[in-house]
Amino acid sequence: MVVVFDLDDTLYPEMDYVRSAYRAIARRYGADLLPRMLAAPNAREAFDSTGIDINEILDIYRTHKPDIKLPWQSLYVLESLRLAGNIIGLVTDGRSVTQRNKIEALGLEHFLRPDLIMISEEVGSGKISGEAFNRIATETKGESRYIYIGDNPEKDFIAPNGLGWLTIEVKRGGNGENIFSQKNEELSMPYRPKIIIEQLTELQDIINRHG
Ligand SMILES: [Mg+2]
Repeated sequence: MVVVFDLDDTLYPEMDYVRSAYRAIARRYGADLLPRMLAAPNAREAFDSTGIDINEILDIYRTHKPDIKLPWQSLYVLESLRLAGNIIGLVTDGRSVTQRNKIEALGLEHFLRPDLIMISEEVGSGKISGEAFNRIATETKGESRYIYIGDNPEKDFIAPNGLGWLTIEVKRGGNGENIFSQKNEELSMPYRPKIIIEQLTELQDIINRHG
């Protein structure tokens, strides 16, 4: 089976990355900025609170080596899938440098097949275009079962649904701080996941049932 994951708010909470960036900014421009940024309701206001040129802030945000780690649930699920002989891939939207730094910090190379790491900047189009999923299907010709696990119904499931993959939405990015809204009711059927789970650890059961 080919099991493909989204990265942010699926395998780890994206707010962890945001807070890691706050710390990197505070290391560069002054420790007094940290409590101010942490108190802001969102990243944009946190950045504004520093009074520093937004381009310099965004450069740190996008290129710093993040201090983030894989939650135990992700580690458990990835290791179980790997040991069971599944092929594991990643489809994520974002800049190459940013997403590669996250992959390295989380130790995901241990689990992912290198040619199945699809980052939108490297692919040349976002996940909604379907290109990343098509490439994974091509690279794994002969496999019959595909799963994509993501958190954002506005863009995560439309393409893999179209390819007949089993799509699974993980709620609340594991820690209740999901950055994007998850309003399935407002979306038409092709955008919706086939299954919704609360915790990544529920994946094992689903795979056993659908595998
Ligand atoms: Mg996501």
